[in-house]
Amino acid sequence: YFEVIGQNLLDQPSISGIVLNLHDITERKRVEKELSMALHTALEASRVKSQFLTMVSHEIRTPLTAIIGIAEVLKETPLTLEQQKYVNVLETAGNTLLILVNDILDFSKVESGTLSLDQVHFDIRELVEKAIAAAAVRAGEKGLTLTVEIMPDVPSGIMGDPGRLTQILLNILENAIKFTERGEVVLRIKNNPDAKDDEGLLFSISDTGIGISEEKLNTIFDSFTQVDSSIRRKYGGTGLGLAISSRLVNLMGGRMWVESTQGIGSTFYFTIKFGSPSMDDPYIIQGGK
Ligand code: ADP
Repeated sequence: YFEVIGQNLLDQPSISGIVLNLHDITERKRVEKELSMALHTALEASRVKSQFLTMVSHEIRTPLTAIIGIAEVLKETPLTLEQQKYVNVLETAGNTLLILVNDILDFSKVESGTLSLDQVHFDIRELVEKAIAAAAVRAGEKGLTLTVEIMPDVPSGIMGDPGRLTQILLNILENAIKFTERGEVVLRIKNNPDAKDDEGLLFSISDTGIGISEEKLNTIFDSFTQVDSSIRRKYGGTGLGLAISSRLVNLMGGRMWVESTQGIGSTFYFTIKFGSPSMDDPYIIQGGK
């Protein structure tokens, strides 16, 4: 391959001779072709991997749901103490596996770009109340204080995906509770001052827990990241929660970040953009919210 530079001189009548500058670009073309082939192969591999993970996860989920269902039914029958212990182990192990399978399914969907978000009207205060009620049980067991502060200018009726927003909130709240032995967990919500169109929310979840080391802060949103194997053994988890949540937040037009000091605690932040329901929306009229 050659690239010719200087051809445009031919247009000018006063020029009687031309110098053609020929560049041998064979190597550049070869590299470009190799890069494009590598990119194509990587995209194809990622698509096949995602399809495979989706298929396997679905195939595992069905029998697993049956196993958990039967464990739940067995728990209601008269059992000896030993049998109760076995059934509890069965149920807990089944649920752990189900969380892992669901996480893998979600992660493969967000990675391959096949996850689509709902756009429905919902009440943000109601959603937060339910998420807090779910997390409060575990916080109560550990003797932690769990509080919520929602600024009054946060609108109640917003448009978005309530299920996925709940998933993000629960992931961060459950982590905050899991990695805190004493003290408090505080969820704060306010209008995002940086959102140009005034339609963004800023969430922060602070804890007084074990904190995250500076070097680990960079990889905390990568998939299968757990700070170290001793933490994994002590606290369990799949290492996929934050990877999924941060990508869901990106899909909602926002971003997620964290500030943390080891031994003092962590604060996870995330922003989302949301649509406002229109004025003739029946939700506003009926709910008056
Ligand atoms: P997991 O399911 O293992 O909790 P996550 O992606 O949700 O996976 O979190 C990844 C890792 O980040 C956790 O295993 C933990 O080491 C660290 N981490 C997350 N949240 C906190 C927190 N609030 N305080 C301390 N460490 C945290």
